[in-house]
Amino acid sequence: MKIYNSQIREKIDFIPIKNREVKIYVCGATVYDDAHLGHARSSIAFDLLRRVLSELKYRVTFVKNFTDIDDKIIAKAKENNQDYITLTKHYIDRYLEDMGKLNVLRADIEPLATETLKEMFELIQTLIDKNFAYKVESGDIYFNTTKDEKYLTISNRIQNENETENRVEVNTQKKNFKDFVLWKAKTKDDEIFFDSPFGEGRPGWHLECSAMIDKYLNDKNQEFAVDIHCGGADLLFPHHENEATQSRCANNQEIAKYWMHNGFVNINGEKMSKSLGNSFFIKDALDSYDGEILRFYLLSIHYRVDLHFNEEDLLNSKKRLDKLYRLKKRVYGVNKENIDKNFKDKILNDLSDDLNISLALASIEEMISEYNEFLDKTPKDKVTKQKIISNINLIDRLLGVGGKDAYEYFQIGVTKEDKAKIEDLIENRNQAKKDKNYELADSIREEILKLNVNIMDTPQDTLWEKV
Ligand SMILES: [Zn+2]
Repeated sequence: MKIYNSQIREKIDFIPIKNREVKIYVCGATVYDDAHLGHARSSIAFDLLRRVLSELKYRVTFVKNFTDIDDKIIAKAKENNQDYITLTKHYIDRYLEDMGKLNVLRADIEPLATETLKEMFELIQTLIDKNFAYKVESGDIYFNTTKDEKYLTISNRIQNENETENRVEVNTQKKNFKDFVLWKAKTKDDEIFFDSPFGEGRPGWHLECSAMIDKYLNDKNQEFAVDIHCGGADLLFPHHENEATQSRCANNQEIAKYWMHNGFVNINGEKMSKSLGNSFFIKDALDSYDGEILRFYLLSIHYRVDLHFNEEDLLNSKKRLDKLYRLKKRVYGVNKENIDKNFKDKILNDLSDDLNISLALASIEEMISEYNEFLDKTPKDKVTKQKIISNINLIDRLLGVGGKDAYEYFQIGVTKEDKAKIEDLIENRNQAKKDKNYELADSIREEILKLNVNIMDTPQDTLWEKV
């Protein structure tokens, strides 16, 4: 496996800290609103990483947090006149529901900031004891970035001296421009706060990920706390830089061996505005497109590249998925698998190259056309059919698409009412056939075809799909 490590900006061999165990930490969402397409893209990108590593027989532990205390959450709770826990619980459920529809696997551990306070307090205390953190008059506690000579080695940012001099924020008593808050002391207006050894207040945002990693993943005897630390490209600085520095200074250990960052989702153009009302929310996208099709589209652009969301590309990507399901339809009813070693090696090889999805999609396309030709020549060849099923199941495990019943896939977009109507008609037709009333059966068949539906009689059942 090769991974592009965004810290050194190079694609390098992936070698886990310990044998074949892989610890992955992903910075998750701040839960004060519905999840948007940026969340979807990041989730799907690292879901792919996890699936590929698992298929390569690594033992993966995958942790992804929820930030459930933050200024935006507090503001939204106030605006809604709602208790913040009710609010965050609602959005966590909504997030998981949306990601479920996109077939994103649940993380092994999904820690909440408010459940990691004890570990955060310990981290702050260690940093104070080691003289990396200082308390100011207001009671806020800051991390002193000038004490770490490796600060900025994750994002490779050049510290601009003018920036430091000119942009010192008002209302803070911190010593240096880049110092960041570990603990915000309660002010007289704060209604939401926690008790801590440092007084009442709440934690700074960067702190939680380091504390969660220590709690759930970190073996402090190793050189690194986790194998791979992931997140959106916007998190590289300051979030990941700050996580890295506080963990380094507290534990004398680097927080991650590899850093992976996904690109943005850009939504431009009128077409998009019309179809989605300018919205970035997953739930709105899901109103227009099936989750599997949306997933496949978001997956089809390499994770590091910015994705310009547009309907045309999405529909092209759907056509690719249609091809896979058309092949699946041709082997309908085959359950037994026969491993196709060539294809398996090929797709794993493609994805082992820093999740090279373009290569993987090309391999899939090639596989589909080869097997379609095979089936044209030898439509009854059992081994071929079993190999096809094995390949489609592998694609489902790796990419999280292709797992639906082939006929159901082609029923996407049919309304519930139409579905019921079609199924009623099919039942009536089958009854007419049983009664040997072939005239009636034929006329019902005509009626069904008028609904833009094809029907296929199999020994077990009558299957149908949208034309
Ligand atoms: Zn984080």
